[in-house]
Amino acid sequence: MIYLDNSATTQMSTSTCEIYNKFAHEFFFNPSSIYYQGINVKNSIEEAKNIICKTLGIEYNDNLIFTSGATESNNLAILGSYKKNIQKVVFSIGEHPSVYNVAMQLKKQGTCVEFINLQPNGEIDYFDLEQKLDETVGLISIMHVNNETGAINDLNKISSVIKHKCPNAIFHSDGVQAFGKISLNMDYFGVDMYTISAHKAFGPKGVGALYVKNKQKLNPIVFGGGQEFGIRSGTENVAGIMAFADAVKNFGNIKESLRHVQSCKDAFLKEIDLNIVTVNSFHLPHVLSLSINGINGETLVHMLESKEILISTGSACSSKKSGNRVLKAMGVADDSILGSVRVSFSKNNTIEECSYAGKELMSNILELKDKLK
Ligand code: PMP
Repeated sequence: MIYLDNSATTQMSTSTCEIYNKFAHEFFFNPSSIYYQGINVKNSIEEAKNIICKTLGIEYNDNLIFTSGATESNNLAILGSYKKNIQKVVFSIGEHPSVYNVAMQLKKQGTCVEFINLQPNGEIDYFDLEQKLDETVGLISIMHVNNETGAINDLNKISSVIKHKCPNAIFHSDGVQAFGKISLNMDYFGVDMYTISAHKAFGPKGVGALYVKNKQKLNPIVFGGGQEFGIRSGTENVAGIMAFADAVKNFGNIKESLRHVQSCKDAFLKEIDLNIVTVNSFHLPHVLSLSINGINGETLVHMLESKEILISTGSACSSKKSGNRVLKAMGVADDSILGSVRVSFSKNNTIEECSYAGKELMSNILELKDKLK
C-alpha cells in the first residue's frame, strides 16, 4: 500500500505504540491520585508537556493545555475567549470546519462575523485583512497552514497588523498542519493561542493541545474536576499524551524532513502532465492539491484505491460534502473543484513510491478522460 493521505492522519511508529501501551497498562494510574504511583504519572505528563513546549518555543509548561484534539482546542480557543461585549470576530474563509463551523454558530447567535478572502495561492489576502480589522474586533482566528493546499499564512505579518489596528484583540491560529513540519515560535508569531493535534504528527488520535499565552483571558467550555488549570477538566488521556510526546521526540531534523518531502512531491509531479492537471498548491510540499477539468475526483480516488494507492478528495472532513470552500475562495472554477484531489506526503514516504504513484495517477486520469470522450 502507498499511503499519500498524511494530511488526514499519520501512522504511529511501533516505538510510539509501545509507549502508548506502557501508559495504558503498566502506568495506568490516575494522575490526580495522591499516592506516589499517581504522582509519578503526573510527573510524566509534565515531562511530556515540556517536550511539546520546546517544539513550540514555549518556555513554561503552564502555557500549554492538553485537550482531546484540535477540534476541541479550536472550540476552546474561540468559545472560551469570546465575550458578549466583543463587537466583531474575524476568521479566514479557508479555515478547517472546527473553526469555520464555530464562526457560523457565533453568526447564528447574532455576533458580527467577518471572513478574510484568500489569494489565488491559498494564502489570506492581507489587504482584505487590513480593511476588515478595526478597534471593534475582539477576536481573530486565522490558520497557520491550510489542510487542503499547504498554503502558509504569515502569522508574524498578521499579528503586526492586529497590533496596529486592534491591539486588544485576541489572536488564535490553528497550527495543526504546521506542527512538526516547519519550525515554530509562538513569541515570534505573536499569537495568543495556537492549536496542535497529535495524530497529524505521528501521534495518536484523540489528543491535542492549545497554547495559551494568558490563561486569565480564557474561560473553560467544559466544567468538572479542575484539571489543566481548571480550563480543561477531565482525567488526562495519559497514554495519548505520552505517545504524543514520544512522536514529537522522534520528529528529528525538521529541515531535513522538509527537504525529503519536497523531493517526494517533485518525484510525483514529474510524472504529471501539467497541460491536463492544474496544481493548486504553492507553499508547503506536504500537501498537493490538484484539479482536473471534466473528471470526478471521487472516481479517481477509488480507481487509485483499487491499485492500493491512498489519496483523498480535498480534506477528509469535507470530502463527503459537495464543493470545496477553500478552492472556491482561491478562484478555482466549479468544474475543476469537482475534479480535485489531495495528495499529502510525509517523511515516511519514499521517492520511488511517490514517482510510481504519480505515474499511476496520470494514467488513471487519461483512462477516465478516454472513457468520457
Ligand atoms: N484543523 C486542521 C487544519 C486539520 O487539518 C484538522 C484535521 N483534519 C483539524 C483541525 C481537526 O483535528 P482533530 O482531528 O485533532 O480534531
